[in-house]
Amino acid sequence: MTNMSIDYAGWQARAAALSVDAGLFIEGQSCAAQDGAVIEAINPANGAKIAEMACGSAADIDRAVASAKQAWGDGRWRYLTPRARMDIFRRWADLVEAHALDLALMETLTMGKPITDALTIDLPESLVTIRYFGEAIDKVSGSVTNSPHDTMHMVMREPLGVVGAISPWNYPLLMAAWKVAPALAAGNCVVLKPSEKAALSCIRLAQLFVEAGGPAGVFNVVTGYGQDAGRALALHPDVAKISFTGSTGVGKQLMIYAGESNLKRVSLETGGKSPQIFMPDLQDLNTAVDRAIMGIFDNAGQVCNAGSRLLVHADIHDAFVERFVERAASLYAPGDPLDPATSLGPVVSHTHQHSVLGHIMRGMADGAALALGGAADAARPAGAYVQPTLFTGVTPDMAIGREEIFGPVAALFRFEREEEAIAFANDSIYGLAASVWTSDVRRAHHMVKALEAGVVWVNCFGDGDMTQPFGGYKQSGNTRDKSLECLAGYMQSKSAWFNLA
Ligand code: NAD
Repeated sequence: MTNMSIDYAGWQARAAALSVDAGLFIEGQSCAAQDGAVIEAINPANGAKIAEMACGSAADIDRAVASAKQAWGDGRWRYLTPRARMDIFRRWADLVEAHALDLALMETLTMGKPITDALTIDLPESLVTIRYFGEAIDKVSGSVTNSPHDTMHMVMREPLGVVGAISPWNYPLLMAAWKVAPALAAGNCVVLKPSEKAALSCIRLAQLFVEAGGPAGVFNVVTGYGQDAGRALALHPDVAKISFTGSTGVGKQLMIYAGESNLKRVSLETGGKSPQIFMPDLQDLNTAVDRAIMGIFDNAGQVCNAGSRLLVHADIHDAFVERFVERAASLYAPGDPLDPATSLGPVVSHTHQHSVLGHIMRGMADGAALALGGAADAARPAGAYVQPTLFTGVTPDMAIGREEIFGPVAALFRFEREEEAIAFANDSIYGLAASVWTSDVRRAHHMVKALEAGVVWVNCFGDGDMTQPFGGYKQSGNTRDKSLECLAGYMQSKSAWFNLA
């Protein structure tokens, strides 16, 4: 990403000087919530207040949906030529790139992500997302079928109308971009309700869309709590689809709201407890262990597809654990996320820290062996830190190996037989991702087929690009983000049958 030469002091100075507009963004204008309510954005690294964000309620959702509905109805976006919309997307991506440092800073300050990760992962991937879906705008086409003589049958692909996007805090800008970019590329108008914990970059994303020439009202943002603004959006009769990334529990609730309101479409990207299987014939144990460490401790484990279940064959178990413990403590030492050298920041809040520590206590009470970490970071009491933690001796019945923790906590199972590993891996309500480490190509194929997950990595973890449909089996969701498959989810087909006789 752009400027990697800023040092720790430079980032601290930039953070102190950062000015943010934390209003709602409706009809191309920043505005306060109708009732004047605000939410304090708190830095989880030190508890300091960063900003007061407008706290939208149902009345603000009504205003934003009315704006999007008007923009949809008068065609100010969908009736632009595809080329004109592509030009706006191009300028939008360029503006996001030009503001990358401040956007990265907003991620770090609001949710504790290391600034180096924000700059090297979140920003580049958000840019690729906008560019990929922008490039796809004029590649969408319908079809003319082989209908009877004296008829013609066209199948057209049309946008849905007003799309409500509800996004989480773990990759605030990127998860919003995964929803908003394909929805807009398909020709819809959008109301985004970002997470109340980390919304600053999402507000800026919408402002930059308008600065790039995007018509007002096409992309609106209402910040606010899920139970209030999120619920109102999901129940709104003028919303054609809710596109959601977040927890499985809230995803279930959204399907109920759809049934209670207008049967809007509901696409869900939800939780995970992803297994990584390490076979004794893997090519290089050191590489595999390093990727296992990254897979669970990147973003402090707050990753939907975090490799939180490590299934390690008995033959390599002891060597694996020894290297994991030795490497993890040095690779992921807690630090101030504004320091470019830091790879492990705090978790998103003290409330979440307590939840993660509660899971750790439960793991100990259930009899798992604590091999690494297991506590808050005593050196940083003001921050919501959790040490990188590894449990060994985990058995399939233990909560630590079944429940999504969403923190830097790995649960390691030891297995003897391949079938046993597959059974462990699939014994979950989740099915987002999985990985297999082996140098036997037949075994790899067999395991890819046997694993119940939307994404399976072989001899790697977390790799991919925009062509990769990303989403889960089972209670990890019902849709795919990224890829052209995702774009299709923001459109519907219309069949037009002509009588030419
Ligand atoms: P969350 O479910 O608590 O919140 C997600 C969003 O839903 C927020 O904007 C929140 O305000 C809103 N919300 C909460 N209650 C609501 C309600 N009743 N009605 C409407 N909206 C409501 O999740 P989170 O804590 O922000 O994120 C963590 C979760 O997200 C984890 O479970 C993680 O696995 C999941 N996640 C999944 C993916 C994926 O691609 N599958 C990616 C990132 C995160």
